[in-house]
Amino acid sequence: MADPRYNRDPASLSVKLWGVRGSIPAPGPDTLRYGGETTCLEVRIGDRLVIIDCGSGVRIAGRALAKHALDHVDCLFTHTHLDHICGLPFFCLAYDPSVELNLWAGHIPPGGTLEEIVERLMSPPIFPVATSALNNTRFCSFRGGNTIDLGQGLTVRTVRLNHPGNATGYRFDYKGSSLAIITDHEHGDAEIDAAIERFVAGATVMVYDAMYLDSEYPRFRGWGHSTPNEAVKLAQKAGVKHTLLFHHDPSRTDDQLDALASSLPDTMSVARQGDTLTLLAGSLLNSAMLPMHWPA
Ligand SMILES: [Zn+2]
Ligand SMILES: [Zn+2]
Repeated sequence: MADPRYNRDPASLSVKLWGVRGSIPAPGPDTLRYGGETTCLEVRIGDRLVIIDCGSGVRIAGRALAKHALDHVDCLFTHTHLDHICGLPFFCLAYDPSVELNLWAGHIPPGGTLEEIVERLMSPPIFPVATSALNNTRFCSFRGGNTIDLGQGLTVRTVRLNHPGNATGYRFDYKGSSLAIITDHEHGDAEIDAAIERFVAGATVMVYDAMYLDSEYPRFRGWGHSTPNEAVKLAQKAGVKHTLLFHHDPSRTDDQLDALASSLPDTMSVARQGDTLTLLAGSLLNSAMLPMHWPA
């Protein structure tokens, strides 16, 4: 099952970025280098595979993963805003009866379910195929903040984020490496910020929502997103080794993201679709960029 292009060491933890954009897919000449697909990350822990979010990027992720004869995939949603679930109806593994797919969400208030939300997305007149076509798929709920057990010794810590309608952050710890994913989130709630600081403490890599620049943020206060400067502050306070800025505004061009990247300290970078980051024994080994649109 291991992909020979990365994660060769069974002690490593890796994350591949299939979609790094927020709000809506943003294809076009200005987003070729950083990518236009919305949020989707593929996390490999030893021989386990976990998908975070089914934004539009999960479509190409599914095409790549279909080559690996997987029999089990867990997919953890940060939340169910459209940019994080719009790819699910186009995720080929969800229709494959030989793949047991578990969909997880921890942000839904009592009385609602993930299944209901997906049924709303996948029903006429919005979408012609119903959830009954999702063969071998289970919908699983948990309370944001609890640790979830994905079976066979794999547990994932979670934290509640500050976002309209709630969202969930995730942390994977494996053989001395740790990966924290904090999106979608707006800084400024003292209690939630303190909990997140404890949650990401000492992480090898933190993926962080940095959708707005400082100059833009005042216009979008309350929309549930943060800034690169807040990422810097949090990473310093929490002792995060490397921070990846994520959930780019759909109007942010490659040139603007280059300028942002050049302003960052060595311990931070800008998420690019196609990158794979490999963590081993608490260190970030590499950030290797693969051709963006593979597989053909
Ligand atoms: Zn989003
Ligand atoms: Zn959102």
